[in-house]
Amino acid sequence: MKQIAVIGSGTMGNGIAHTFAQFNYKVNLVDINQPALDKAIQTITKNLDRQVAKGTLTEDQKAATLNHITTYTSIKDGVQSADLIVEAATENIDLKLNIFKDLDAYAPAHAILASNTSSISITQIASVTGRGDKVIGMHFMNPVPVMKLVEVIRGYATSDETTGTIMSLSQSLEKVPVEVNDYPGFVANRILMPMINEAIYTLYEGVAGVHEIDTVMKLGMAHPMGPLQLADFIGLDVCLAILKVLHDGFGNPKYAPCPLLVNMVTAGKKGAKSGEGFYKYTPGSKELVVSDKFKNS
Ligand code: NAD
Repeated sequence: MKQIAVIGSGTMGNGIAHTFAQFNYKVNLVDINQPALDKAIQTITKNLDRQVAKGTLTEDQKAATLNHITTYTSIKDGVQSADLIVEAATENIDLKLNIFKDLDAYAPAHAILASNTSSISITQIASVTGRGDKVIGMHFMNPVPVMKLVEVIRGYATSDETTGTIMSLSQSLEKVPVEVNDYPGFVANRILMPMINEAIYTLYEGVAGVHEIDTVMKLGMAHPMGPLQLADFIGLDVCLAILKVLHDGFGNPKYAPCPLLVNMVTAGKKGAKSGEGFYKYTPGSKELVVSDKFKNS
């Protein structure tokens, strides 16, 4: 494994590219347009600067990491010499199926096709390719350069060889891989999303306000972040998409997304990345300010 391609350069894609590049893999980073890629390189540079300031990386290592990344706006060009492709595009099933058809057509026959999906079936993604044994879930956590876990998801047809390769590769990035089977939400989001949804219902029903709900979970359960702040951090659109997969996949009403979450996403309030969710975000400020909408809740 030398050449990696990462598809999608948003929140997760830029972190995945950063991490592989830092551990000396060559990375082709692909997105639909150059401004998205430029923004990703800016974010990676800022995050590397933070590592240098902390003393965990040298200036030379920062320069080498950036040198390992090349940007592309075409999947065909970006994947043609890749040994592994990690797809981290928007959480949308039709989009991912189209991308995997392209990956199967343009990536070398030996290449492993991995998805960073939070919840979409790896078995379904594999079904549009002619190499189901080489399709796997490689679910990194946000922020990727910091978080140790990689949830490795075996689809119905994923081979032992592919699983073993991805487990060792994750270790080479100093991550801790955990192997799980392919059912809706896998393990991480099957447990996390119902908690986030319940926190949103608790707010929606007026049981307590944003700050109060998050404080109970932070101080009472020793969570580093409250569930509403975490939802903003993940992206409310991503949370909604995952809940819909759980709801459809299990056919159980307990996973139905809270109407407040649906409304917020429809109104464009997607959390930190859109500037507002349960909290409002000012660039450069780390202060946690409850959104005006929930000030009196
Ligand atoms: P995001 O919206 O920040 O980024 C998605 C990127 O994909 C955008 O830059 C978009 O332009 C790009 N994209 C869309 N269509 C594309 C295409 N055809 N080709 C190339 N690029 C394309 O989303 P994100 O939060 O980075 O999520 C990406 C994936 O990672 C999703 O599957 C999500 O479920 C998963 N995930 C997200 C988190 C999280 O905390 N946000 C955590 C783990 C996994």
